[in-house]
Amino acid sequence: MAGYREHISVSGMMGLGYAFAAIFLFNYSAVQAAIAAILTWIAGMLPDLDSETGRPVRELSGVTAAVAPMLVFQHSASLGVASDRAMLVSLMMYGAVRYGAPYILGKLTVHRGMFHSIPALLIAAELTFLCYYSEELRVRLLMAVGVGIGFLSHLVLDEMYSVQWNGVRIRLKKSAGSALKMMGREPLPNGFTLGLLIFLTWASLNSAGVLEYLTQEPVPEVLTITNELDDAPEYRMVNEPGETRWQ
Ligand SMILES: [Zn+2]
Repeated sequence: MAGYREHISVSGMMGLGYAFAAIFLFNYSAVQAAIAAILTWIAGMLPDLDSETGRPVRELSGVTAAVAPMLVFQHSASLGVASDRAMLVSLMMYGAVRYGAPYILGKLTVHRGMFHSIPALLIAAELTFLCYYSEELRVRLLMAVGVGIGFLSHLVLDEMYSVQWNGVRIRLKKSAGSALKMMGREPLPNGFTLGLLIFLTWASLNSAGVLEYLTQEPVPEVLTITNELDDAPEYRMVNEPGETRWQ
C-alpha cells in the first residue's frame, strides 16, 4: 500500500497536468482549472478514508468540513435563501462532517473495502457533479472528471505497490487486485454501493438533461398556413389556339 505522502504527491501532479489541459486544450478559465486541480489533488486521498491509520481520515474530514459549507453558500445564493439561514446550515454541516464523519466511517468500513473500487470512484465523481454549483454543465463536468482522475491515481498507485520485484521475479502481494475492483467480498456493502451508484447515476443523467432528451416525445410536424400567397399574381388558364396552359 502506498503511503499518504505518495498519494497526495501523485494526485497533486495529476491535478496540475489536468489544470493545464483544461486551460490550453479545452478553454476553461484559470480559476476553474485551479479549482479542478485542487479537487483532483484532494480526491487522491479519498479512498483511504477507510484506512485505520487515521491521518487521511483526519485531513479529509477537515477539508470536507470546510468545503461543505462553501457549497451550501454557493447553492443558497442561487436559491435566494436568507444568508443567516445558510450560515446556520453551514455551521451545523461543518460540525457534523468534522466530528461525525470520522466516527461513522470508523464504524462502517473495512480497509480496502468498497472505498477502493471503481464504483466508489464513480460515486465520488457523480457526487461532485451533483454538488458543484455552476450554470455551465461543462464546468461541473470538469470538476467531476478531476475527482475521478485523482481517485483513479490512488487506486492505480495502490495496485502498483502490490507488485514486488525482488530482482529475479515479480511477486504479487496479498493485496494485489484489491484496489481496482468492481466488487468486494461482503454482500451488504456491495449492495449499498451499487444502489448508491445507480441512484447517483440516475440523478446525474437527470441533472445533465440527458434523460429529458432521451424520453422526449418526438415533436409532431406542424403545418403552418400562411397568407404569403395572397399577394401572388393570379394563376389562370390561358386558352390559345393550339395549346392550353397555366400561367
Ligand atoms: Zn489506498
